[in-house]
Amino acid sequence: MTEQQGGEDVAISLKSENKKTILDLVRSGRRPHTVIIEGDSKEERDNAALLLAASAVCTSEDKPCLRCNQCKKVLDGLHPDMLVPQPSKRLKSGIISLGELRDEFLSQASIKPNEADTKIYLFTDADRLLREDSQNTLLKIIEEPPQNILFIFTVEKAKALLSTVRSRAHIVTLSRTYVPDEDAEAIAEQITDGIADLYEYDLLVTLSGLTKKDEAESALAAFTEKLRLALAFQSGVMTDDSCAKKLSRKLDRARIIALIEVTMDAIARLKTNVNLQLLNTWLCTQYRRITWQK
Ligand SMILES: [Zn+2]
Repeated sequence: MTEQQGGEDVAISLKSENKKTILDLVRSGRRPHTVIIEGDSKEERDNAALLLAASAVCTSEDKPCLRCNQCKKVLDGLHPDMLVPQPSKRLKSGIISLGELRDEFLSQASIKPNEADTKIYLFTDADRLLREDSQNTLLKIIEEPPQNILFIFTVEKAKALLSTVRSRAHIVTLSRTYVPDEDAEAIAEQITDGIADLYEYDLLVTLSGLTKKDEAESALAAFTEKLRLALAFQSGVMTDDSCAKKLSRKLDRARIIALIEVTMDAIARLKTNVNLQLLNTWLCTQYRRITWQK
């Protein structure tokens, strides 16, 4: 992990591209307080989560060193400031009950960490572990987190979590396989321009031009990605995406979150028997309402 030699390194098995994804986030300087790690295999996700957790408590300059006591305790699963809620024994299928989550874990959220500067909550297989009621309870803490807290969720697909949770989290996709196609990118750029430059007519024309549901889904997914990058950019995570930069300059955080939610809502509706033209008109109205309201 580290260029320095000496001491006893603790091994962590992680593909190099996934390691880089996590380290890029760590070294961006400002780590978000809520991170969802999706994609690749369960083992890669779990180890990526540990790498991120170690970086939050590591005492070395080059974080995470994976050699200091703090790092080792995280990797061994023994760190007193890393809480890893487990499925309730009384319940089937890997779920934690809301009562246990609240009483045994979340009740400690505002208590200062013991050893490290940061308290970590690690929810592995979060889509199975956390039912909707648990996610809603967590949401209240995520919205106004106590200082020095890091929530990490691992999940095969971030989509399996509530959109309200997703929109407040930084989503890390391991071994990204989803690459937006060029058409979708171009439309996402037009939507960006329509919103950022207040060209309502252009926005309506762009959205009305989406006449196939799969095409609309790709374009809206690409636009959602740009909104997420814009949100991350505002939190200090660098991006080369010009649309994301533009959106982050023109819109405040609350508006970007609202745009993500409404776009994901539209994507969900696309999977139903919805009339595409009506949906496009609805979406344009929503975009206008969110973007231009005082
Ligand atoms: Zn360390």
